[in-house]
Amino acid sequence: MPLKNEILNRWLGRADAPPERETVVIEPTQASADWHMQLDEEGRVTSISKSLRGALALAAAGMPAQRLLAYLMPSSALVVEGVPREWLGHMLDLDFKRPNGNVLHTRGWVQAQGSSWLLQLLDIGDLMEEANVAQSRQQCLRLAGHMAEKVRGCHVERLQSVTADQLEELAQSYRVPCLALVLPEPGGVGWRVYAHYNAHTAPQLWQDSQRLGTDLDSLSGTVTHQIDFGVPTPLVHLQSAFGNAQGFLLPHHKEGSVKAWLLFGFYDAAQQVPDLGEREWMNLCSALAGPILYRHADQAHRHQLERLAVLQDLLGTGWWELLPDSEEVQLAPQLARTLGLPETSDVLPLEEWLQLIHPADRHELESRLSLLRDQGAPMLSCVRLRQDDPGEASVWLRIQGQVLVSGQARRVLGFMLDVSDIKNQETQAAAAHARLDNLIASSPAVIYVLEYDRGALEPTFFSASLAPLLGWTLAECSDGQLTQYIHPEDRDIWFQRTRQLLREGVVSCRYRLRDKKGEYHWLLDEARLLRDDLGMPVEAVGLWLDVTEATQATERVRESEERYRILVEDSPAMICRYTPDLRLNFGNRPLADYLECTPAELPGIDLGEWFSAEQKEAFLRRIDELTPESPTTTAEICLELPGREHAWWIWADRGVFDDAGKLIEIQAVGRDNTEIRRTRMQLNQSAKMATLGEMATGLAHEINQPLNVMRMAVVNVLKRLSNGDVEVDYLTDKLNRIDTQVQRAARVVNHMRVFGRRSEIEQQLFDPIDAVDGTLNMLSEGMKGKGVELKIDEPGARVQVRGHVDQLEQVLINLMVNARDALLSKREKNHDFEPWIALHVEQDEQTIWLVVGDNGGGIDPRLLERIFEPFFTTKPVGVGTGLGLSVSYGIVEQMGGRLSVSNSSEGACFRIALPIVRE
Ligand code: ADP
Repeated sequence: MPLKNEILNRWLGRADAPPERETVVIEPTQASADWHMQLDEEGRVTSISKSLRGALALAAAGMPAQRLLAYLMPSSALVVEGVPREWLGHMLDLDFKRPNGNVLHTRGWVQAQGSSWLLQLLDIGDLMEEANVAQSRQQCLRLAGHMAEKVRGCHVERLQSVTADQLEELAQSYRVPCLALVLPEPGGVGWRVYAHYNAHTAPQLWQDSQRLGTDLDSLSGTVTHQIDFGVPTPLVHLQSAFGNAQGFLLPHHKEGSVKAWLLFGFYDAAQQVPDLGEREWMNLCSALAGPILYRHADQAHRHQLERLAVLQDLLGTGWWELLPDSEEVQLAPQLARTLGLPETSDVLPLEEWLQLIHPADRHELESRLSLLRDQGAPMLSCVRLRQDDPGEASVWLRIQGQVLVSGQARRVLGFMLDVSDIKNQETQAAAAHARLDNLIASSPAVIYVLEYDRGALEPTFFSASLAPLLGWTLAECSDGQLTQYIHPEDRDIWFQRTRQLLREGVVSCRYRLRDKKGEYHWLLDEARLLRDDLGMPVEAVGLWLDVTEATQATERVRESEERYRILVEDSPAMICRYTPDLRLNFGNRPLADYLECTPAELPGIDLGEWFSAEQKEAFLRRIDELTPESPTTTAEICLELPGREHAWWIWADRGVFDDAGKLIEIQAVGRDNTEIRRTRMQLNQSAKMATLGEMATGLAHEINQPLNVMRMAVVNVLKRLSNGDVEVDYLTDKLNRIDTQVQRAARVVNHMRVFGRRSEIEQQLFDPIDAVDGTLNMLSEGMKGKGVELKIDEPGARVQVRGHVDQLEQVLINLMVNARDALLSKREKNHDFEPWIALHVEQDEQTIWLVVGDNGGGIDPRLLERIFEPFFTTKPVGVGTGLGLSVSYGIVEQMGGRLSVSNSSEGACFRIALPIVRE
């Protein structure tokens, strides 16, 4: 205590207040001062007490008289300005230099000693030190407070950068080169740099987010205690945290364990800041780490809550709790929203809560709740929300609850989950299932399931339609009995079907299966194999459809088709189908035989190849005229088969049309008419020859006439010549006359030769008047000779008809010769009779008529119908052939025309009607 007092006095400068000018002997008179110095008037040091010399480690003697300032630190220069006299009565705080660099803090005053001055000094080093320490601690506290405030107050997103700023401040305050705050890894194991500061001059020791591993954990139990902040400060070597640098580290403790570290790199705290104690350092660390950790925990908590809220929102779920003592229930805000409660009311009376539930489920929930509350029985219940609009889909909630006991407190809580999706799906699935069941039950097909058991398929299910269809039951079909019911002829199909089903997974086949009454049904069997995830067969599902009727109908159709096919094949007629461009689709054997190929070679053959251009054109024209209304046409067609005679077919076509009325195919039946045709042509020819023979008398006259003229001319010329009268003009005249007659005879003979020829195969276009002219050429002279007058009309416009000109001529000759015969026989009875034959032409747009009439009295009406019959004649045997009119009729018909007869007032009248062909 006396010591303390003394120190305090020294501090306050009260120690023996310096007297105004007092003579003081240096030693040992001034016991109150520690040290003395003798100064001269100018302030130069003349002597130094021994103890002061010791304290300043100065040599004993031989010192030059230096000014006092030379012994002092520069900071004391102001204090010793001027000369000692001026310092009198002042407290002088003087810091002396020590050779080791330390400072000797003193407080002194001067006293006059004659002409010199005595400077007495007290050591105040310890006082100075305490003051420094206190100041340091205060500064430290301020810094800690400032840092804590900053990290507490900043926005959480800026927390890390603010921390870095605080580290910088801290580092600058204590000249720390490298500083880092280390927090636990987010995962919990090991440590990680949260923020750091690095002075520009120092090597980079740490980085943000750097992982430091778990080495720090080894320090957490012990090192804090070992760190002694006294002198000397122990330095921690920690490879993982500090590398090879020296440094020290501060832990932040909470709840008995280290929660953060503050690392100081390249730093010796004891040396740099000797004034700070362990507590101050720890304070600093906690001031920074504490709030950060708190804010992190707070943020994590908030995140947790947000996640929970989002989860509840997404799931349409939320917690609820029955509040003890009040009949109230508290709901999570999300749940309140789901239930459509107002934002503010998350607490509501239990009764109100129950009112939200559908009446059908309300009592169940109420009863389960009371069981839970009273007996602690865990609750699980699915309920619907009350529906105000019956059209809306139901909202299903799964409500779960349990009792939570902690200490004395007993809480009843749980959660509600919106399970509408699942419930609605369940309902839909159930409905679909019911529909499917219905469908299976009402299906006319038998649906079956076969279970797979080591390669065998055993029936496990048949739909209800099995009994009405086959009469069997499932039991009667199992254990391989099914095979017995299969028709013996179809057993191969049956076994093959099972093998294929197992091998390929799907099968479709038909076989006969016996029903309970013993009758066989044709079944269409379609099955599919179902496999598990590993591809192993599990079961087969299939159906049987009774196709007996269809199968029989198909069979009948097939049989009838076969019959028709045989009919077509074996028919003597040629039958074929061809497209409108005359390509064969099908032809039967007779057609193939005719064309000298096989039936298989027929499809694709072009019928048009065997037609002449004209025939083809006529054929196509005929086909073109087919319509759905009049789909058939018949014609005699002429084919030119290479290397063979012309063939004549009677050909009947029938068009097949599509829905749009377009001709798609023609079906045709043909008969070879060549023989008949040839016979008819022969007949024609013979008739023609007969006509010719008939005309022989007329023709003899025709030729006789010119011969007579020539003979007369020759006789006359010879007579002149014998008279010697050779007159050239006369001779020339006679010879010309002879020549004219020769030409006339030649013309007649020529025409007969042409007429006698066989007709051309093909019909030609010609002018019918040519036939009239030819006929008159041959007959007119003869007629005149017999006294029959010919009345010929001038023809009208020239037209063309199709046929053979010689044949039409033949017809006209026939008609005129018949008329002549009738006229001549009439004149035999009446010699005054004047016979005539009239030939005139009528025409309109389509038709030309050649009309031959006479005044021979006509034909007996009873015979009119018969005169066109072959071999009908009224003429005596050997005169008439009875072919003339019959052949004529055929010729005109071949030309597409018609020959008809009628009786006029004077005689018979024959009309040849011919269609006009216009190009
Ligand atoms: P044919 O002249 O060889 O008897 P046709 O077939 O030419 O054979 O004539 C058949 C019959 O028709 C004749 O026998 C005749 O009785 C009768 N007939 C034909 N033309 C006439 C006619 N113009 N006037 C009267 N009868 C006719």
